[in-house]
Amino acid sequence: APVRENLTYEAFGTAVRELAQTIADDGYQPDIVLSIARGGVFVAGGLAYALDCKNLHLVNVEFYTGVGTTLEMPVMLAPVPNAIDFTDKKVLIADDVADTGKTLKLVHDFCVEHVAEVRSAVIYEKSHSLVKCEYVWKRTDDWINFPWSVLPPVHRSGEAAKDNKEAL
Ligand code: 5GP
Repeated sequence: APVRENLTYEAFGTAVRELAQTIADDGYQPDIVLSIARGGVFVAGGLAYALDCKNLHLVNVEFYTGVGTTLEMPVMLAPVPNAIDFTDKKVLIADDVADTGKTLKLVHDFCVEHVAEVRSAVIYEKSHSLVKCEYVWKRTDDWINFPWSVLPPVHRSGEAAKDNKEAL
């Protein structure tokens, strides 16, 4: 079986506090934490509390698979954050993992023209990532099981998954 990096909710709690401590020790005091949904929302929430930053923004990014090609590019979904909000602000981008790094690069490039400063924080960074984040809790090249996405969505109690689908 392939090797997995298993992050529990409990270990995540430790990770996010340690990541915040690294950021604080580095003297970076963000005005805005920008989370990349959905996985980055957990990280951003934890960091915003730990860094005492009350200004939390969110951007939705999904991978778009080009028709008939192997090209895979992430795209920002509407509503795209208003870049005006970021003018002259110190922004901290938060995500769960920089894997290819394409998602973080997209959001970073969006920010960089408007903000005073932008840095990125992730729980995990893989060695092949094209973006090197300023703040990384742990480096791995294994597939990561995150506590929020390792289980399938819940269904109404007593109903089989297929019944639930039929009801939709
Ligand atoms: P990217 O390749 O753009 O850096 O990562 C895009 C997204 O793919 C991540 O935000 C995450 O949601 C998902 N992803 C990438 N690598 C992993 C992984 O090892 N485990 C899980 N659960 N998701 C991953």
